[in-house]
Amino acid sequence: MSVYLDYNATAKVRPEAVVAVARALDVGGNPSSIHAAGRAARALLDAARSEVAALVAAPAERVTFLSGGTEASALAIESALAAGHDRIIVGATEHEAVVETARAAAGAALEIWPVDERGIADLDWLEARLTHAARPLVCLMLANNETGVIQPVSEAALMVRAAGGWLHVDAVQAAGKIRIDFDALGADTLALSAHKVGGPQGVGALVAGPRAQLTRQLHGGGQERGRRAGTENIPGIAGFGAAAAASAAGLADIAGQQAWRDGLAAEAAARGATVLGEGVSRLPQTLCFATPGLASEVQVMALDLAGVMVSAGAACSSGKVRSSRVIEAMGRDDLAPCAIRVSGGWGSSAADWSRCAEASAQLFARHQSRRRATAPA
Ligand code: PLP
Repeated sequence: MSVYLDYNATAKVRPEAVVAVARALDVGGNPSSIHAAGRAARALLDAARSEVAALVAAPAERVTFLSGGTEASALAIESALAAGHDRIIVGATEHEAVVETARAAAGAALEIWPVDERGIADLDWLEARLTHAARPLVCLMLANNETGVIQPVSEAALMVRAAGGWLHVDAVQAAGKIRIDFDALGADTLALSAHKVGGPQGVGALVAGPRAQLTRQLHGGGQERGRRAGTENIPGIAGFGAAAAASAAGLADIAGQQAWRDGLAAEAAARGATVLGEGVSRLPQTLCFATPGLASEVQVMALDLAGVMVSAGAACSSGKVRSSRVIEAMGRDDLAPCAIRVSGGWGSSAADWSRCAEASAQLFARHQSRRRATAPA
């Protein structure tokens, strides 16, 4: 049996989500119809909205469903720009969904907010920038997809709010892995994605606080209170709701993976690997480590042959591995080409993490013996 430790790419679909999707397909009906089937679909939509809202301790009416984390960040960024927040500050380790949307929208007015060598956004830099940037849009992710590093979002929120700005938080990776309280974070908007919490792909949500005025990007029917036109993806949304509820109930189990994660980290460090983001708050089930001399691609392929699925820090949609922009932003260009990410989730066991540790130790031993064999006498 192979081992799947790539939950940050896509979590295994939770059985609760599979049941909810099948049930919703069976219900059929358009939630805008007033007949019985329409009302049944509407009930599924309302229930899922409450479940997703509960995952981030927000009122249900603040949740807008859309096609995923990418669209959620796009709606937030476009809405902030439409509201006059046209100076955009983006964390250096943000996901492409945020960086590229902001770049496309803002062009030259985009500023990249540096992180330190641990991957933490520099709050002093932000404070200094905010004295020059009137009503900025600031984008800071809650947890990084490659390293798991958790950003000081609530501290940043206080600064952004004092500057009259809009704070957009990509919480796609944090959701279901650590507890999130939308109000306590202080974000204006927060992006979520179903497939990172064990729901289906192609569905997500934007949570918007009372100060955030969302500007519709898709015109058509008045679905989602006029914030996002188009008949709702009821099976996907129902699966998202079920996965969100199961994730909220499973937070303690995910927290428990930290010990297994740290076991692998210790073994890798003992043979000379560097753990990215070591010593700072990170997602409990994410480990990014670099083994000098062993290319990311080689590691990912060798582990796959050994039946262990992990990923390099970043994989392009083409499937090719490229050097990690996140690790480069941390000032470790030297480590970027040889880093891999191991990420567990609701279905992972201690045995899965041990198997990964064994396979990666064997890979390292083979690498060492090849090096010895080819070294000049
Ligand atoms: N933000 C982060 C941090 C992610 O890791 C991802 C997915 O990899 C996204 C956004 C995009 O989400 P989606 O695939 O639902 O569009």
